[in-house]
Amino acid sequence: MLEPYDAKGIQCRVKLDANESPYPERLSAGLLKSIKTNRYPDPLAEELRRAFAKRMLPAKLRDISGILHGNGSDEIIYNLICAFGGPVVYPCPTFTMYGKIAQALGEKAVEVPLGPDFDIDDRQIIRAFRKEKAKIAFISRPNNPTGNSFSEEKIVNIIENVKGIVVVDEAYQAFSGENSFLSRLGKYENLAVLMTLSKVGLAALRIGFLVANPDLINEVNKTRLPFNVNSFSQAIAVRALEGTGLGEGVKKIIAERDRVFRELGKINGIAVFPSDANFILFHSPMAEGIYRGAIREGVLLRNFCGPMNGYLRVTIGSRNENDAFLKAIKNRKIWAEGPV
Ligand code: PMP
Repeated sequence: MLEPYDAKGIQCRVKLDANESPYPERLSAGLLKSIKTNRYPDPLAEELRRAFAKRMLPAKLRDISGILHGNGSDEIIYNLICAFGGPVVYPCPTFTMYGKIAQALGEKAVEVPLGPDFDIDDRQIIRAFRKEKAKIAFISRPNNPTGNSFSEEKIVNIIENVKGIVVVDEAYQAFSGENSFLSRLGKYENLAVLMTLSKVGLAALRIGFLVANPDLINEVNKTRLPFNVNSFSQAIAVRALEGTGLGEGVKKIIAERDRVFRELGKINGIAVFPSDANFILFHSPMAEGIYRGAIREGVLLRNFCGPMNGYLRVTIGSRNENDAFLKAIKNRKIWAEGPV
């Protein structure tokens, strides 16, 4: 049965559940006043795509015919499945929207368990893709919620051995020391790289991008609604992409992630997993108690059910927010399960 996306409405002082950035973009009144509310937004978002290309892409990928804009990158997942159909293959656990959108569109969702160390099982992905005659594979790298980057050569193996589209979702790439798959776009016609502005401080705007060869982009663009990104989001994002704030936020988050990782590693009863993203996954037999106890202390984490039962994910916030989280979790009294 199709379940809605699990975005909980729990209000907490310290919100570390949704992989958002703690650093908002400053808005100027002049910018807001320049927007004409009586006009539709630019349907092609040309200025936005140009600003994105200049800021986020290597020089040889800046032709905007190879860039598609979406109302968040999850809208582009929807567009991709609309355009190419299913079955849709992806490793598990991963970002749940690949499966939910496939199902919502009446397409088969094929999950392939991750291998040891949360790495992707390339052979099983290729086998499943061929057996099901799949059309698209989604690979989140770094992977949400495990936080690791799958082996580059395993992903290359998948791209080279399936007859279909491979989408490498680089939503968290800004926080990773690993190479982006953008540099391989020239080599593989069936590769597309999915990106988002949501994790670097602009989640409210709902802006994502797909980067691929112009023919692939053209196909996906046929399923895009004409005015999918509104004028406010386009204008604010262009200004943010031209400024320096986004990159400064990312650097602070990486430094804090490494500190939080070290601190979590000192706590008995918790297994913590290395992360290339803006969040950290950890495991404890007391996970449910920690989750509930943290809420009582004003800190909201992300919990999981099913195969991820016992795991929790903490988003890296500001230094103060991370301190609040660490103070809560180091207090073992909160671990005992109790009402929120
Ligand atoms: N891909 C991954 C791997 C994600 O974790 C998320 C958000 N949690 C998204 C895509 C969607 O991001 P957005 O729609 O905000 O661009």
